[in-house]
Amino acid sequence: MIKVASIGYPRIGPKRELKVALENFWKSDISEAELQTVAKDLRRKNWQTQKENGVDLISSNDFSFYDQVLDTICLLGAIPKRYKWDGKEVSLKTYFAMARGSQTSELDVPALEMTKWFDTNYHYLVPELSKDQAFQLSTNKPFEEFNEAKKYGFNTKPIILGPLSFLLLAKGLDGFKTINLLSKILPVYKEIIKKLSELGADWIQIDEPILVKDLDSQVVAQIKNTLNELKKSSGSSKILVATYFEDLNDEVKNEIFESDIDVVHLDLVRGNRNKSYVKNSKKQLSLGLIDGRNVWKADLQEKIEFIKNNTSGDIIIASSCPLLHTPYDLDLEQKVPQEIKRWLSFSKQKLQELNIIKNFINNNTHQTELKKNTDDVQDRKTSKLIHDNVVKDRIKIINKSITDRKSSYTQRAKVQKDIFSLPKYPTTTIGSFPQTSDVRQARAKFKRGEIDEKNYDKFLKEKTIDAIRKQEKIGIDVIVHGEFERNDMVEYFGEQLKGFTFTSSGFVQSYGSRCVKPPIIYGNVSRPKPMTVRWSKFAQDQTKQIVKGMLTGPITILQWSFVRDDQLRKNTAQEIAFAIRDEVQDLEKNGIRMIQIDEPALREGLPLKKKDWKEYLEWSVDCFKISSGVVKDETQIHTHMCYAEFEDIINSIAALDADVISIETSRSRMELLTAFEKFKYPNEIGPGVYDIHSPRVPTKDEMKELIKKASKLIDSKRIWVNPDCGLKTRGWPETTAALEKMVEAAKELRNETR
Ligand code: GLN
Ligand code: ZN
Repeated sequence: MIKVASIGYPRIGPKRELKVALENFWKSDISEAELQTVAKDLRRKNWQTQKENGVDLISSNDFSFYDQVLDTICLLGAIPKRYKWDGKEVSLKTYFAMARGSQTSELDVPALEMTKWFDTNYHYLVPELSKDQAFQLSTNKPFEEFNEAKKYGFNTKPIILGPLSFLLLAKGLDGFKTINLLSKILPVYKEIIKKLSELGADWIQIDEPILVKDLDSQVVAQIKNTLNELKKSSGSSKILVATYFEDLNDEVKNEIFESDIDVVHLDLVRGNRNKSYVKNSKKQLSLGLIDGRNVWKADLQEKIEFIKNNTSGDIIIASSCPLLHTPYDLDLEQKVPQEIKRWLSFSKQKLQELNIIKNFINNNTHQTELKKNTDDVQDRKTSKLIHDNVVKDRIKIINKSITDRKSSYTQRAKVQKDIFSLPKYPTTTIGSFPQTSDVRQARAKFKRGEIDEKNYDKFLKEKTIDAIRKQEKIGIDVIVHGEFERNDMVEYFGEQLKGFTFTSSGFVQSYGSRCVKPPIIYGNVSRPKPMTVRWSKFAQDQTKQIVKGMLTGPITILQWSFVRDDQLRKNTAQEIAFAIRDEVQDLEKNGIRMIQIDEPALREGLPLKKKDWKEYLEWSVDCFKISSGVVKDETQIHTHMCYAEFEDIINSIAALDADVISIETSRSRMELLTAFEKFKYPNEIGPGVYDIHSPRVPTKDEMKELIKKASKLIDSKRIWVNPDCGLKTRGWPETTAALEKMVEAAKELRNETR
């Protein structure tokens, strides 16, 4: 018999109810009890939805007020000392202090560090573990949620983040290896499992996504024993170990399959090895058949074939990974055109898809639903909306004459030096200026039709001129137009490109209460007409100084969208790259002499396994070069990257061959630059001299220090001076103050080092 499992359901609420409640609670507009009521209601609805849509193994403890890793930190009592935890059941106050920092007189502490959850756009809070870390069971969350569900009549499968993933995702203070805490952490895990079993859980899910990554042999050697220990305390409950986001290598797979746990969940959407583990598997499997990270309807016939050909039918089926990364419910969708909507599937629909597979195989029912699925999938394959042969042909020929600049950097630099005659340590910013409430309000009013296009345009022009005057006054060398016309750096372009569509309801959690609404790339991508030329040209016409054109790069557009799954990601990226290339060419034709192509997401697209890095880096670098390679030597290409560990990809950053890169370094205190001790970055570079995430105005001297430090590692003739990212989240007062200091710092250094 086939059973359907939910291995994790979204929790922010179909209409982002949790987001609203959290933000009201933080503002003290609602009480803790009111927040708890909203949470309870959302949990009940999630269980109900799962039940109604045929889920047999309904999930619990996948709810979270902020983040499931933070929940686990609390569960295990691994709260860093600075939060002054009293050792009792962890309160919401301590919880949110770790999530968001606290600025009260009793507790003045920053939040825990936050970082990307595997290769998704979700961020988790990083546990900090000390060498002598103690663990003790410190919240009752999984037990309470289990009991809560039971009261409503649902016997749920609690989900716990497993010990290996927890330890390996944590940061060891003073650089010690967190895996060494395994023997200390296991007793608490066993206690948790025992308790859940005693409460009557038929199933317990242990999430171990870390097992898909490259693991060192010390870790691999401990997998089997760890899982066996967990199983020992499970009584009559069954243990399901969930791996996802990639496939397992043979060695790791053997360790898990040979352990005593009852079921292994495999991601069958990503990677290709997992599929080969299904046939004749001695272990009972949960097949992650339906893509948990994308919005497309699955081809159910194909899935049914796979099950029939590879299993005896005694399996669990599920989404490939928790549905946290997929929006809630397509039935709520108001914006996507009907023709495209029939190709889509959000979380609830994914449960329905699983239910169709189950019932068709178990009972030979649901044939109408299956037929409809086949029709929809077929419709997508042949739709005229998707296919554009001109675009398809264009990406067939990608060679050096397309990707490479006309001359080498050294030659270009000479030409550019003469025509731009910039001072030493030229100053610039990353693109956006404060999106103050008047900017956001005007945009909202324009969208609602409350102001007309003419007036909105007038408003944007005034803002742009104002920003230009401010930059001239401060004395910035290379000016930007300020990006006031843009809502979001991907959406702005997606809205103007063919092949993109937008949803009204497609929110996914990014971190805490923050959600994003990624565009959907459904078809071949092209650029029907210029996207930014009007604003760049308008800005350039207002000033004698050089205005940098401002574009988002192909990889960042790809990374921050739901990408079509009917062709290689690489090909979609190439199509976007050509669209940006067209824009770059038009900017150049219209007198824009410096063009910045932002690629902040280049690093996060890196595959989870190292063996796949090379291929990804090759095509992603090529995409950037397709976009930028079209210009004359006289046109200067800039790029920008931020908030990532660049050490891994430093060679590829150089291979982009941008004339200038601006890059974040100030938060990591110029750590990036240590990478340049080993690797000599060949072109010009603007290491961010201050952190734009804080309203704090940096001192001139600290910025001078940073620039001096950089000058020791990079030829000072190739150093630019800029903040570390766009300024859109800041206010004007601190922005002007900081930029004034930055310009002073550059000027003083020019004089000192002449
Ligand atoms: N040009 C963009 C800005 O300044 C870059 C944003 C980013 O790096 N995320 O806002
Ligand atoms: Zn940035």
